[in-house]
Amino acid sequence: MALKAILLPGAKGRSAMGYKEYELTMPVQAYESEEKLRSLIQRKSKLGSFSYTILKKSLDARRKSRIEWRLRVGVVSPELKGGEEPRPVRLNPERRRRGAPVVVVGTGPAGIFAALYLLRAGYEVTLLERGDSVEGRRAAIQSFESGGAFSSLNNYSFGEGGAGTFSDGKLSSRTKNISAERNFIFDALVEAGAPEEIRYMTHPHVGSDVLFGVTQQLRAMIEAEGGRVLFRRQANDLVIKAGRVTGVKFLGRDGMAGGALDAGRLLFACGHSAHETYRMLLRRGVPFRVKNSAIGFRAEHPQELINEAQWGQAHLPGVKAAEYRLTAQTSSGLGVYSFCMCPGGVVVPAAAYAGTNIVNGMSNYARDGRFANAAVVVGLNLPELLGREVEAAEALDWVTEREHFFYQTAAGYRAPAMPIREFMKPSSAGSAFAGKGMQQGSERSAAEYQSSYPLGLVETDLRESLPAPIIGALQEGLAEFVRKLGGYENGLLLGLESKSSAPIQVERDPAHLTAGYSNLYVAGEGGGWSGGIVSSAADGLRVAQAIVAADG
Ligand SMILES: Cc1cc2nc3c(=O)[nH]c(=O)nc-3n(C[C@H](O)[C@H](O)[C@H](O)COP(=O)(O)OP(=O)(O)OC[C@H]3O[C@@H](n4cnc5c(N)ncnc54)[C@H](O)[C@@H]3O)c2cc1C
Repeated sequence: MALKAILLPGAKGRSAMGYKEYELTMPVQAYESEEKLRSLIQRKSKLGSFSYTILKKSLDARRKSRIEWRLRVGVVSPELKGGEEPRPVRLNPERRRRGAPVVVVGTGPAGIFAALYLLRAGYEVTLLERGDSVEGRRAAIQSFESGGAFSSLNNYSFGEGGAGTFSDGKLSSRTKNISAERNFIFDALVEAGAPEEIRYMTHPHVGSDVLFGVTQQLRAMIEAEGGRVLFRRQANDLVIKAGRVTGVKFLGRDGMAGGALDAGRLLFACGHSAHETYRMLLRRGVPFRVKNSAIGFRAEHPQELINEAQWGQAHLPGVKAAEYRLTAQTSSGLGVYSFCMCPGGVVVPAAAYAGTNIVNGMSNYARDGRFANAAVVVGLNLPELLGREVEAAEALDWVTEREHFFYQTAAGYRAPAMPIREFMKPSSAGSAFAGKGMQQGSERSAAEYQSSYPLGLVETDLRESLPAPIIGALQEGLAEFVRKLGGYENGLLLGLESKSSAPIQVERDPAHLTAGYSNLYVAGEGGGWSGGIVSSAADGLRVAQAIVAADG
């Protein structure tokens, strides 16, 4: 719940207060100041003295002639009779001396929030991170995008803050029953410098520029609670004694010494790009199964085209940039959907490993870039696609092969790209994936092709890039998108988008323990139990609560 209350002078003691919620609408242009909102509440409630809290705020653009903000506000006033202000549920672990130390592998949302909770509960916690601090990470990304070498330690997937640090910082989540975890996450994010509005916006987002400072502050909060964060240390094996995990071995990267740490409980929160870590866990017998995931491309359009389609105008004063979310059910039964939309953002080279080529999207808080991008992916059931059973390691191989294939096609990190309009036409060559290489056209600069991608594009027949059922579903799905969002066909597709959800899932018991282990946990997106910043952070928190509960 938002804590954006203004207490009027002279407001009486809380015992005499009543509480009521009001639904309000106001034209976007009118939402300029606190006073305007206050007078609207006054008119609606007929109250003289009150304080209010914004509970929800969303944009209603269903009628283009009257686009308005819809708000729900909670009002406290001595003039109201009855009603009780709801108390947000909060996670407050009892702080006391705990047993053996916990090691958390990975400083993405799952690792950071698990660590924060465990520290507040009194545990000794060490975080291992294969990449650098967010400062070093940003420098490595900037160097790569200005023609420097690719770093497998610091990129859009790896390094402090995890995969979501250089992102749009969207904080929406469809995960159910995580109110307490959500409040913990949002309280910490606001304390670390995220805007207060994330508490009540229906589609909250922080933006990459703000997330940078937020990540630094979250590290400071962890250290202030007594936690240790060790950068350039990559967990690469379990220490097992008498059949029990007693610690973790790590590789020192970029000049750091390797070693091992004892752990009473060990939590892997490595995100879903950490394939070599999952291969190590698989070799050690940790049980993972194949799960449904998704694959496809990233669509990019001029932001004004999206604004026109959604709002009927290129700019809407008081609103940053229009969003969209599109879905289509295809005749083959495969679902196609847009995902991780970044209004006013850029498409980024998001490879985690050298020799692979994938894209993703990010944007700043202002969302004021010239382009809009979003993943457009097809649900992927690998055993069904391949017509046989698939082992977890094979599922990782399958994704990696596609990522290599895009790298080879582009001969590097330029993005294979194709106009949506062209992609939707039936392929003359047939699109059965046979590893034969996509037909390549000319190299294009991003400007020539109307794209934000920083490393240049390679005009490529993307219809040759993925198995025929996936391409067919995408073509059908895109035709539906065009029907729903006018002008959508005038965008560009860039590939590959392979990271919308993990292809494997760790088997765990109801207490979140890895099946067959007494002290090993795998949390977050790489564990296959979450997707996105908030649900991964919430999964980390759930595992942390399970650890506290198990220790009694
Ligand atoms: C460019 C981009 C944009 C995105 N935009 C959004 C968005 O706007 N909203 C949203 O909800 N989601 C977004 N996502 C997805 C989101 O970032 C992830 O779902 C989320 O970060 C997963 O959290 P996690 O903690 O499970 O793992 P991650 O965030 O992936 O963190 C894992 C961490 O573990 C470290 N690590 C890996 N292996 C090891 C090892 N062996 N030893 C030590 N450390 C290791 C990594 O360096 C990393 O820091 C985006 C992702 C990308 C790549």
